[in-house]
Amino acid sequence: MRANMDQLTEIADGIYQLRFTLEQARSQSRVYLVAGERGAVVETGPTIMVPSIVEALKEAPGGLDGVAFIVLTHLHLDHGGGIGALSQALPRATVVAHERGIRHLADPSRLIESTRMAFGRRFEEHYGPILPVAPERVHPAVDGEVLDLGVRKLEVVHTPGHAPHHLCLMDSRTRAVFVGEALGHFLPDTGLLVPSIPLPMVDLKAIFRSINRIQRLNPDMLIFSQFGHSPDTERLILEAKRAMAATSRIVLSRLRGGGSEQEAAALVLAHYDERASHIDPQVPPMRFSGAWAGTTLQLVQSLRAYFRKRDLL
Ligand SMILES: [Zn+2]
Repeated sequence: MRANMDQLTEIADGIYQLRFTLEQARSQSRVYLVAGERGAVVETGPTIMVPSIVEALKEAPGGLDGVAFIVLTHLHLDHGGGIGALSQALPRATVVAHERGIRHLADPSRLIESTRMAFGRRFEEHYGPILPVAPERVHPAVDGEVLDLGVRKLEVVHTPGHAPHHLCLMDSRTRAVFVGEALGHFLPDTGLLVPSIPLPMVDLKAIFRSINRIQRLNPDMLIFSQFGHSPDTERLILEAKRAMAATSRIVLSRLRGGGSEQEAAALVLAHYDERASHIDPQVPPMRFSGAWAGTTLQLVQSLRAYFRKRDLL
């Protein structure tokens, strides 16, 4: 597979974005550098991206030696699969992840197993291997902790739901929040947020609590780990809640009525199409129908597992 990497782009004061396309996952992921006296890289993407990240960081403010922290919003392959490889390439950097997920960095065996379930048994061929991080390099972060970059600070905000160990980062200088996947997938071309609810650790209540938490931070910018960033923070946070509520309502009602997972997924896709045309009448109809079929079926399966566990189905 090919991974395409653009150059560094400054998207806010001292926040640089590296954009790459993972053709296999039809995903556009982002890696960020927050510049400071001590710089922080946020997310790594999978291992296949690491050589390009290292090349780009050589040209970045502070260079490779200026990176003091590598922070992961969570450990899923497309966000943090490359952490072992990148930590080897940046030997001075401390690896930061939430304390609830930290044990999987030094011993990624369970992570590799769940990655095979989500991305296929031969995910290494497309994304590269998940390598361990030396235990002494790892720092378990907790809610409220502050990473001091000198001229700015990054506050850790624990936002479980998408994953129990998911965290966001609030930048003191720009009031930008790195939201990872806590609000779902932001699709700039439609203005939509599409829920991102993976197996097996779904917790809908926690997802809503975490969205409320992000809302209370009153951010000036939302920086997503997929597809982009936006200053339209109030609308997008409300859209995240609305999308999450509507999607789970549609799925629960269809499955309760005896519908199949495929039928529920088709209704969700039709809802996305309708919602996109409501936000922007220029968006072509059936925008979501084919491209999102597989992702949406997985989302339905995750919700079904969640509803069953709570005796709602
Ligand atoms: Zn994820």
